[in-house]
Amino acid sequence: MGNNLAWIEESLRELREKNLYTTIRTVASPQGAWLEVDGRRVLNFCSNNYLGLANDARLVRAAQEACERFGVGPAAVRTIAGTLALHLELETSLARFKEAEAALLFQSGFCANLGTIPALVGAGDVIFSDELNHASIIDGCRLSRAEIIRYPHNDPAGLRSLLAEHRARYRRALLITDGVFSMDGDIAPLPELVALAEEFDCMTMVDDAHGEGVLGHGGRGIVHHFGLQGKVDVEVGTLSKAFGVLGGYVAGKALVIEWLRQRARPFLFSSAMTPADTAACLAAVSILEESDELVNQLWKNTYYFKDQMQLLGFDIGQSVTPITPLMLKDEMLTQRFSQRLFEEGVFATAIAYPTVPLGKARIRFMLSAVHEREHMDEALTIIARVGRELEVIR
Ligand SMILES: *Cc1c(COP(=O)(O)O)cnc(C)c1O
Repeated sequence: MGNNLAWIEESLRELREKNLYTTIRTVASPQGAWLEVDGRRVLNFCSNNYLGLANDARLVRAAQEACERFGVGPAAVRTIAGTLALHLELETSLARFKEAEAALLFQSGFCANLGTIPALVGAGDVIFSDELNHASIIDGCRLSRAEIIRYPHNDPAGLRSLLAEHRARYRRALLITDGVFSMDGDIAPLPELVALAEEFDCMTMVDDAHGEGVLGHGGRGIVHHFGLQGKVDVEVGTLSKAFGVLGGYVAGKALVIEWLRQRARPFLFSSAMTPADTAACLAAVSILEESDELVNQLWKNTYYFKDQMQLLGFDIGQSVTPITPLMLKDEMLTQRFSQRLFEEGVFATAIAYPTVPLGKARIRFMLSAVHEREHMDEALTIIARVGRELEVIR
């Protein structure tokens, strides 16, 4: 017998030795302020369920009704026989919500990036990409075979000098950024980026996965937040975070959407969202269009939690969104802190290399509209206790 997989054992051992091995916990309850995880009831500060829609009764009912009417599967890719009226309805309602000309659904936000970037640029073209962009953007860029130029994080001046140096040598150019950066919670300087894109003739694309349902009036996202409607060519969105379900989409100029329908490979070669997912997302969009109550509650919770963390003496970084990193820097300390929190009943994930650079480890607390004051107070008491125990605060 050959031992052609021995390298995997070796690599896994190396990950464990370096404390970089990911252990995955199992959830046995719906998503909410409390979770049942690995047999324990814990306060949930991990999920991207910003508005609490993942277990909202209205979404659950919409999904059940769609199953009754349309069954469980789409049964074909959309270009063959898999486009439901529900898909088109959701595209129309997402475009309306984002105040964009049109929208196109994908199976996930990850697929939306993988499908869209290679449809817009290819060999002979160039991409200017923020150095902290999400993995799905990085992979989409690589798949495109365009030249990739990473610019310093959220630094328009740094980007300008790279554009001045390189742009003219290429045919088409795409400027691409996360809207909200998921590990730090800071946001892209979109007005400056859009101005640079105009000056240097680049297409613009923003990934609003952590912005929609959070930023802008009623959660319409980062483009709305900056009043840039109609100025950004492509917005990528996900239906798995604030919208609480699963799926992805692109919103933007009608011309771009028409092109993606011809060329985006995950759209052409992979089946679409199920009827249940699609109907649940439709319900989520109507809830957001009817009221900004959930978005306001999310922000109230965010301000309260951040204020309290600062009063306790913790370093919570530069976030301006509900993403709240507790900066601990040291990898071992971060793992230990997160483990102790879990034992005491607070579930918040340690984030370390390679997700963030070495020496920049942190615990990421995610706020949600489902948190009530007493959930946050109970968590804060435990966080303070563990912080003192591990000598992070006094
Ligand atoms: C979460 C995330 C995605 C992926 O979204 P999915 O719908 O879960 O695939 C893409 N981009 C960014 C910036 C994200 O944070």
